[in-house]
Parts: sequence; C-alpha cells; structure tokens
Amino acid sequence: MSVLLLDDELTLPCHSHDPELWFAEEPDLVARARGLCAGCPVLRDCLAEAIDRREPWGVWGGELFERGEVVAQRRPKGRPRKDAAHREGLAKRELADRLAGLVA
Ligand code: SF4
Repeated sequence: MSVLLLDDELTLPCHSHDPELWFAEEPDLVARARGLCAGCPVLRDCLAEAIDRREPWGVWGGELFERGEVVAQRRPKGRPRKDAAHREGLAKRELADRLAGLVA
C-alpha cells in the first residue's frame, strides 16, 4: 500500500471546488468531477491508492468507484434502454483501456 504525500503548494481540483461534486449521483456532475480530475497533478497516485483502499464511493483519480470497484458508469435508474448491454460493453472496454494506461 502506498501513501500519497502532498506538497502544500499543490492545488488539487477536489480541494478548490465543491467536494460534493466528487460524490454526486447525477451523471453530468460525475462527468464534471472526472473532467476536473483529468488536470490533477496527482491523478495516477490518487487512482492507485483508491484502488488499494477499495474506495466504496465517489470519483477518485478520475474514475468512478462503487462498492470498492472502479465502474465504467452508474446504472441509471428505471428500465434499461434497449441498447444498454451494448453501451455498457463499450464503456467497460474504454475503462479497461484507461486503467491499462494509468495503473501498471
Ligand atoms: S485525482 Fe484525486 S486528488 Fe486529484 S482532483 Fe481527483 S480526487 Fe482529487
């Protein structure tokens, strides 16, 4: 397990914006948090540590966590769309590609 040590002079997006954004339910807000993470100087370490800790919830290191796992997207409420399985498959492949590039 690694420990992320932060330089006092680093400005992290999740410290300079509303932290609730990183724990939002709405897909557009989750996307906004992920977008802000993308410019974070500690993204890789944050993601690696969140995976180690099996974060139960929220956006960490630019990825969405649910119940300790990185998930491609939250399941929307209500009846699934007809193309839900296809869309979920695409999202999972994109997630696998992103993680392969970030966590070695
Ligand atoms: S990568 Fe981690 S430290 Fe950086 S903004 Fe996202 S949640 Fe915060």
